[in-house]
Amino acid sequence: MDKSSFPKGMNRIILLALFFNFFLPLHSAESRRIPWALDEVYSGSYQETFQKLRNEIQFLLRQTVIDVVGQIGLNYQEGWRYPLVVGFLDNAPPGAEFALAYVQLGMEGGEIRQDLRINLSQYEKEHFDFEKVLAHEITHAMLNDAMGAEASTVLPLWFHEGLAVYAANQGEQMLKSYVYHYGNSFLNGLDHYASAADYAENYLAFKYIHKKHGSNALHNFVFEVVKRKGDIPNALEYTCFEKWEDFLKNVMEFSESEIREIGIFKGRPQDIPQPY
Ligand SMILES: [Zn+2]
Repeated sequence: MDKSSFPKGMNRIILLALFFNFFLPLHSAESRRIPWALDEVYSGSYQETFQKLRNEIQFLLRQTVIDVVGQIGLNYQEGWRYPLVVGFLDNAPPGAEFALAYVQLGMEGGEIRQDLRINLSQYEKEHFDFEKVLAHEITHAMLNDAMGAEASTVLPLWFHEGLAVYAANQGEQMLKSYVYHYGNSFLNGLDHYASAADYAENYLAFKYIHKKHGSNALHNFVFEVVKRKGDIPNALEYTCFEKWEDFLKNVMEFSESEIREIGIFKGRPQDIPQPY
């Protein structure tokens, strides 16, 4: 046996050990996913509903995540990068007071976290489709989590809302409701916000991609937007072969034609369906 081969081999083992020690913690830190948590503190006036939803949410949240993945192809692993806390309240903060649920991306003790809040006073009114609203909010949470907080906050609103409405299957009812109320007057360009009806315009952009390019292209588009940290024009060209300016024109034409097809409401105004 060659005398020198022994120490050489040892060196290699030591080097390998060093290599693993150095990289393992880094790798596991990146792949460590945090399970969502339930905020058990609720002192509001709908205790019975709270108990019911609190028991249902475990199954519902898991099923919703799976449904959303199937709908938009957002890459999702078990657990979350940022802690997600689901809680219940009776009064949402200004701006969200009429929402059945909302997601807030925030900081606590230097750590990024997301809060998904369900407003039980709105839930009690029962004119919402709870599962669709939950899917909408979960889509926001999943997109924030996948992109990272920084990239997600600079991503345009039309992408956030259009994707959430599309993923939650809220689009067709919402579109009908707003078209019956406002015709096509809410088509003002993806980057302009005038009212809640703009969500229907945002939805149409995703419907256009689906109709024109298919669901694989839509999944790839969402995946590339996440991967490219919000570079929508390049993600679009890479997956749908459309330049940004052409896309805007095509979405506008498509939206006008979809709205023409819906037409005007023939019943009594009070029978126009709710957007949610
Ligand atoms: Zn939303």
